[in-house]
Amino acid sequence: MERSTIVRVHEGLHARPATRFVRLAKSFESDVEIVKEGKAVSAKSSVKLMLLSVKENQEVTVRANGADAAEAVEALIGYLENPRSGLDEEDGAETAPAVEAAAPGKATIAAVSPDADDGRLHGIAASEGAAIGPAFAHFPKEIEQQPRTLAAEEIAREIERLGTAVTTVRARMAKALADASLAESDRAIVAALMDIAGDEALIGHAEGLVRKGIDAVSAVIGATEATAAEFSAVEDVYLAARTDDINAVGRQIALALLGEEEADLSSIPSGAVLIADDIGAWDLARAPLKRIGGIVCGKGGATSHIAIIARSHGIPAVLGLGERVREVAAAKEIAIDGARGWVSADPDDATRSEIVRLAEDAEKERAALAAFKDTVPRRADGTVIEVAANLGSLEEIDPAREAGAMGVGLFRTELLFMRHTHLPSEDLQAETYGTLARAFAPYPVIIRTLDIGGDKPVAGIEFPEEENPFLGWRGIRMCLDRPDIFKTQLKALLRVAVHGNVKVMLPMVSEIAEVERTKALIEECAAELAAAGTPFARFELGVMIETPAAVLIAPELARHVAFFSIGTNDLTQYIMAADRLHPAVARLNDVTNPAVMTAIGMTAKAAVEAGIMVGMCGEAAGRADLIPQFIKMGLTELSMSPSSIQRAKKAIAEL
Ligand code: PEP
Ligand code: MG
Repeated sequence: MERSTIVRVHEGLHARPATRFVRLAKSFESDVEIVKEGKAVSAKSSVKLMLLSVKENQEVTVRANGADAAEAVEALIGYLENPRSGLDEEDGAETAPAVEAAAPGKATIAAVSPDADDGRLHGIAASEGAAIGPAFAHFPKEIEQQPRTLAAEEIAREIERLGTAVTTVRARMAKALADASLAESDRAIVAALMDIAGDEALIGHAEGLVRKGIDAVSAVIGATEATAAEFSAVEDVYLAARTDDINAVGRQIALALLGEEEADLSSIPSGAVLIADDIGAWDLARAPLKRIGGIVCGKGGATSHIAIIARSHGIPAVLGLGERVREVAAAKEIAIDGARGWVSADPDDATRSEIVRLAEDAEKERAALAAFKDTVPRRADGTVIEVAANLGSLEEIDPAREAGAMGVGLFRTELLFMRHTHLPSEDLQAETYGTLARAFAPYPVIIRTLDIGGDKPVAGIEFPEEENPFLGWRGIRMCLDRPDIFKTQLKALLRVAVHGNVKVMLPMVSEIAEVERTKALIEECAAELAAAGTPFARFELGVMIETPAAVLIAPELARHVAFFSIGTNDLTQYIMAADRLHPAVARLNDVTNPAVMTAIGMTAKAAVEAGIMVGMCGEAAGRADLIPQFIKMGLTELSMSPSSIQRAKKAIAEL
């Protein structure tokens, strides 16, 4: 029994739709295959299905053989033709493949700063704070493979052992899923890994190798390597990134066969300093962040995922130590100064007292700063300076409000896209932005449209290989070329604008035409919403000033938008032509360089003269030492990490 059709699943059958298709296929007893361009794979394996790389508008055939073949073909064809039928579009993430909730910047260039001759290791100061605590080394060990040829009579028992190991790993994952404290985004990661651990393509391959007489550990490693290689060979950034998931699962099954368990972070003692080469999505998903006293990593830069998480949870972190991280791995105790970026293994008494003093000072400063939480800072002429928060997810709302944020000056929407295994729908986006708007009303909430490029995979967007992703197809450039994605976001934003406190800004703008074309799309979206009878309202549209081009055309640009927000992170790297993630050029990446300060001054002047609001949302906005200059230039809004808010309010109050 077979039937052909044209696939109408938006963005094709990868990631989430693949898992849903497989779930549907598995509900039938019959053997079911899907065929594309002569290649047939089992419709019950999401691994195989993703590798088939079925795209929207391609022709496929569904073939079934068994008692319920006709029903299976009908249901699966029905899904391909109309994916919304029968299955709920937003039905939770329980079987979706993982997308690493990565940071806005790529990381992992090892630090090259030399160690001073003080017995301390110096790395990237990624999250301030000082701590001393027991060392907790987390270096997943190499699997000791002892390849063995099985005797014929051993094979059945080895297959059974393999089955037990798979069950053990899946049970462990199911237990993690049952934990109510697991965050939704992490749940998707764990669920995806569990799905892969039960996938017939991976496990079936391993079983086949055992049948050929290969021991189970070697068979799992062989099957994992082969499957991972297939994924990385596909010309699709998103699929290539799934190799990490496959490797993580294969590793756990191999360890279970050896009677071992991955040293996971759940046993980290309270106050311990975590030492690792890197911390992956799977580990971060389960890490008890409240118990972690500090983080020391070989990889990671100041804008890496670990750095952002550490900062938002107030955990001191020194990253980018490279191989030298191994030098402190055997220590019993670690002292860490995240503000100055050094680490000391088994510190002597002098270092110990220094850290204790730094920690006490920090505590005293925290207590003193708390008095500024509700301060509404003003300029000498009475103008209120808005001290707002930079956020990337809804989980950060509470810390921002507790810090006294006067709204949100930058909501980075890309994390919403990266966390999901499909492009977030208009409804999902409207719900997210709406929650944010309500949480901070009546203060303004500035939502930035998608700022993503080829350096990070997003399900549903194919990026070309780029020599220089930072100079490439990203931000507003990509959005204008993909009106399907951009209009979905703009419609969600128009819908939440009914709350009255939503503003929108565009990233990476370098031409007036980009603003004009966006405005035309906004008009189209408004007309479509009106025709559908969906309530919406207008929002103020602003731009980020983060390219030298935007600075140079600022006087003209100011006539086309309602506000400017200076993105000093990118502006500094583009003015100085120095990669913001490259430790070797970190010295040039300095906002206080006269070239950058001049650019900030030119931007502010253009805005003030045009009578529009000018703010800042780059990291420099939180620098108490620079705030007086920014205010003098005419900035009336500063948006920063919540941990800097009270210090910034104090700096303004004391002007
Ligand atoms: C910036 O470039 O300063 C900015 C705030 O944007 P992001 O760090 O997200 O690139
Ligand atoms: Mg930027």
